[in-house]
Amino acid sequence: MPKNSVLGFPRIGEQRELKFALERYWSKKSDFSAVENVAAELQQRHWNYQLEAGIDLVSCNDFSYYDIMLDTTILLGAIPERFREISDATERYFAMARGDKTHTAMQMTKWFNTNYHYIVPELNTKTTFKLNSAKLLAELEEAKAADIKTPKINLIGPLTYLALSKSDDNSDTFEHFDALLACYAELLETLEKAGVVYVQIDEPYFAKDVEQKHLSLLKIAYDKLATVAPSLKLIVTTYFNHSVEATNVLVHTPVYALGLDFIYGEKNLESLDAIAISGKQLFAGVVDGRNVWRNDIEQTVALLERVAVHVEKEKITIATSCSLLHTPYTLKYEEKLDSEIKSWLAFALEKLDEINLITKTFTQSALSAKEQEAYAENIKANISRKHSKTIHDIAVQTRVSDVLQVERDTPYAERIEIQRKALGYDDLATTTIGSFPQTPELRKARRDFKKGEISQEVYEAEMKGYIDECVAFQESVGLDVLVHGEPERNDMVEYFGEMLKGFAFTQNGWVQSYGSRCVKPPLIFGDVSRPNAMTVSWSAYAQSKTQKHMKGMLTGPVTILNWSFVRDDKPRSEVAKQIAVAISDEVNDLQNADIKIIQVDEAAFKEGYPLRKAQINDYEKWALESFKISVSSAEADTQIHTHMCYSDFNDIIHTIEAMDADVITIETARSGNRLLKIFKEAGYAQEVGPGIYDIHSPRVPSVEEMVAQIKALQEVLPQKQLWINPDCGLKTRKWDEVKPSLQNMVEAVNIVRKEATV
Ligand code: GLN
Ligand code: ZN
Repeated sequence: MPKNSVLGFPRIGEQRELKFALERYWSKKSDFSAVENVAAELQQRHWNYQLEAGIDLVSCNDFSYYDIMLDTTILLGAIPERFREISDATERYFAMARGDKTHTAMQMTKWFNTNYHYIVPELNTKTTFKLNSAKLLAELEEAKAADIKTPKINLIGPLTYLALSKSDDNSDTFEHFDALLACYAELLETLEKAGVVYVQIDEPYFAKDVEQKHLSLLKIAYDKLATVAPSLKLIVTTYFNHSVEATNVLVHTPVYALGLDFIYGEKNLESLDAIAISGKQLFAGVVDGRNVWRNDIEQTVALLERVAVHVEKEKITIATSCSLLHTPYTLKYEEKLDSEIKSWLAFALEKLDEINLITKTFTQSALSAKEQEAYAENIKANISRKHSKTIHDIAVQTRVSDVLQVERDTPYAERIEIQRKALGYDDLATTTIGSFPQTPELRKARRDFKKGEISQEVYEAEMKGYIDECVAFQESVGLDVLVHGEPERNDMVEYFGEMLKGFAFTQNGWVQSYGSRCVKPPLIFGDVSRPNAMTVSWSAYAQSKTQKHMKGMLTGPVTILNWSFVRDDKPRSEVAKQIAVAISDEVNDLQNADIKIIQVDEAAFKEGYPLRKAQINDYEKWALESFKISVSSAEADTQIHTHMCYSDFNDIIHTIEAMDADVITIETARSGNRLLKIFKEAGYAQEVGPGIYDIHSPRVPSVEEMVAQIKALQEVLPQKQLWINPDCGLKTRKWDEVKPSLQNMVEAVNIVRKEATV
């Protein structure tokens, strides 16, 4: 019996090796074999880490050059029609992921409620599946060569695959169930032939509220899959919440094990008796795969003992709650982190050791001297965290609990009249989302300044030079509302976290967001407050360079929270409220400095939604309240914008409306105006800037294309309500893509405006 298992390991590399290799290849500075070499080295290294930490079931097929859902699409041969003409497999793979000059990329969306993004499979009635297991088998061979005795193959389950797919012809993706199941059956047979024993099949879809008919399909699927290749041991795994409904079904199928998340799905404890009766193995996710705090081993072992009251000890495999993809790699490069804070943390590598120690403590009658020492150290660290003085700030707690004002003083209908008059912008006003391309020079200047290698003056001069260029460029193309370009920001959350109290930063705590893009989330370890203004001097400087309106640029409290690793000793709602109060002070300082349009980005508002309906009300209540508190200081003539980067608003449109922002800019470029229709149907009254081109792709959209797009938007919402903008910030793009794109965008607006006046 495997004693422990890891659900998946991060793949970008502890020094982000894969990222740099990919980006060299994309910019044609190396050929693909260089990427392959890096990939092989990383896989080897990650397996070794798991082996060295005494992990029984080491994850295979969790590596990907870009995204595992995309790899699954390739594995199943479900390549959308438009990419089929590309004969080179590597070229085609990256065209699907990122688009190229002639191919629009596939849609990308957030993986459940994480900040990881997957490539959405595109299915239609013509889709066929054809197994293409070459990559998987090659990885398996490498694992065997690396001396991994029991490689565990990780797969995305068929039902989750269908549930996360979109259809481009309105057909139900589940119509493909039979065909897909046949393909999976063939895959499992192939794996069995290749000598595989353990297969982890991820079905996180069932951690949501699912329809009865999908639960019925679950039964059909696993009755079949667990019998086609009888020597395989299937571990059907869910995470991010409980999945009691699915468990009730799966215990009546011949699968080997269920993998459940006991960190984010406490209710899974209710399934224990059913699992015990079924005699199945239980993979118990007890080490948090989504947070960075050190495991409280005493508590975890106590939890496992409670589980063992129901399920035989021998049938329990200790596991991570989900893939470690969502945590940074290791603390070993953290030289600057406060040593007290550091002692409270565990990243992926350290979590492997935690699993090992938990396994030993839980299964052995006695610990070795070394293990005892590790155990004692764990207890000490957790006690120190509970009582640390660096965490609790009474002044902050008092101010935040005294907050009374949530609403703005003037209702929207009145505000917008005042703003339109004061700000004087036309219908179809053009703007951008905030950032302009981050050049190597900017990054170097920020780095040098941080290291103390250049003075404050030199640094500021460099940033201001960049702001000057951004302003000049925006004026030259004729944009209506300008931005300063965010040159001083490495990241929209990190920037604010660095200036707020209660946050700590890692040097190397990178987590993959999509493709080669990584983020380095701050750690919120203590009470949050704002010692000084954070953005005012930059925005005021930029405003001094133009007669047009300069938009102030802030990150909202919910996004700061959702993109940070948040302390787990206080409710998230309370932490959000502390941040909101700090941001409202910044809004006030900006308007006092004559910045009359302020954007408060809530890019991550949606990803904080709980997966289960029963938990949504609570989240919406405090998230909404936090956003509103953060802008409650705005006067009626200060226009509040917000920005959100996704295309799935169906369920939350009324909450978005209740945020009461004057203008919202959203991502629609990859989903046409389907999204906008939701705004219309909801009777959404505020102004909307539906992104009219996709900034995630290097492609420059043409004037004609954008004219057509604007006209399509006008069919849905009156032009008085529309703003025209790209669908997200431009920091990841190059100037030679941004310049012509924005020029074309403004030209398109001019054409449409002119046509409207003749
Ligand atoms: N203002 C930010 C930017 O332009 C917003 C980024 C985002 O929404 N992800 O980069
Ligand atoms: Zn965005």
